[in-house]
Amino acid sequence: MSRIFSGIKPSGDLTLGNYLGALKNFVALQDEHDCFFCIVDLHAITVAQDRLELRKRTKDIAALYLACGLDPNKATIFIQSEVPGHAQLSWMLECQTYYGELSRMTQFKDKSLKDGTAGLSSGLFTYPVLMASDILLYDTDIVPVGEDQKQHVELTRDIVDRFNNRYGDTFVKPDLFIPKVGARIMDLQDPTKKMSKSEENDKGYILLLDDLNRIKKKIMSAKTDSDNLIKFDKDNKPGISNLLSIYSVITNKSIESLEEFYVGKGYGDFKKDLAEVVVSFIQPIQDRYNEIRNSKELDDILDEGRDLANKLAFKKVKKVEHKIGLGRKR
Ligand code: ATP
Ligand code: MG
Repeated sequence: MSRIFSGIKPSGDLTLGNYLGALKNFVALQDEHDCFFCIVDLHAITVAQDRLELRKRTKDIAALYLACGLDPNKATIFIQSEVPGHAQLSWMLECQTYYGELSRMTQFKDKSLKDGTAGLSSGLFTYPVLMASDILLYDTDIVPVGEDQKQHVELTRDIVDRFNNRYGDTFVKPDLFIPKVGARIMDLQDPTKKMSKSEENDKGYILLLDDLNRIKKKIMSAKTDSDNLIKFDKDNKPGISNLLSIYSVITNKSIESLEEFYVGKGYGDFKKDLAEVVVSFIQPIQDRYNEIRNSKELDDILDEGRDLANKLAFKKVKKVEHKIGLGRKR
C-alpha cells in the first residue's frame, strides 16, 4: 500500500480552494492508501501570527479535516509541531540544499519582489526544505497538493537524489498528485491570482466556515467579463472559467455539460445556481464541524496521530543522523 502525506497550514481559515485542490483528494485517497495528514503549524509561523489565533486555527483545521470526511481509522491526523522530527530533519536537509535552489522558488521570489527581502523571515526562504522534510520523514510515495505546490515537490525530489547519491539509499522519491480540475481555484475578485486563505480582501475567497448568506453574496459579486457567455476559456474569460471549475468539481459534472446546459442563459442565472450548489455542499460540513470542534474525541484523535507519527519520524531521524555521522554510535 503506498504512503501518502500532505498538509495544510493554519495561516488562515480553510478556503474552498484548499478543499477542492487538496482536502477533497485526501478524503478520496484514504481508502486505498496509508495516509498521513498534517496541520503544518510550523509553516504558518514563517509570517507573524497571533498566538491564540494560531492555536485556535490549528484545531479548527483538524476539525475541518474530520468534517470534510477524513476518517481517523483510515488516516493518521496530527499537528506538525507535536512531532519534533519535522524540524530536526529540516535542519539536516537545509544543509543539503543550495541557496540558489531556494532563490528560484517562485513563492519566495514573488513575495520578495513585492516586499523586498530585508524584512522577510529567513524561515520564509527555507520553508520549502521543511516541506521536503514533512514528506520524506514518512517515506511518502505520493503527495496530493494543489498546482502551486508543484515546484516544492520537485525540489523535494532533487533533494532525495542528492542525499541518496551522497549517503546511500535513505529517502523514497515522492510523486505528485494534482487533480485535473480544481488544482488552482482562483480569487473571486481577481481571477488572475490564486484563491488564498491569507489574502486580505475577504470577498476574493470562500471559507468553508463562512456564513452561508455571505457565501451566496460572494458568488453573486464574483468578477466576470461583460459578454455574458458561459464558456470555459481560462485566458480570455478567467472569471467565469473559475466559477465553471468550482461548479464542475463540486457536482462531478463535466465543464462541457455545464456549458451546454447554460446555453442561452446569463451569468446571473449561472451564479444563482452555483451559489445553491456551494451552499448545499458546505452546510453539512459546517454541521459536522460544529459537532466535532470542541469534542474530546478531536483531542484523542490528534494525540493518537501524534504518537504514531512520532514513532515513524523518530526512526527516520535516527537513520539520517547515522548516515550523516551525527551523534555517537550506540
Ligand atoms: P496561504 O495563502 O497562507 O499560503 P493557501 O490557501 O495557499 O494559504 P496552503 O496551506 O498554502 O493554503 O496550501 C494547502 C493546500 O491547498 C496545498 O495543497 C495547496 O496546493 C492547496 N491550495 C491552496 N490554494 C489553492 C487553490 N486556490 N486552488 C487549489 N488548491 C489550493
Ligand atoms: Mg499557500
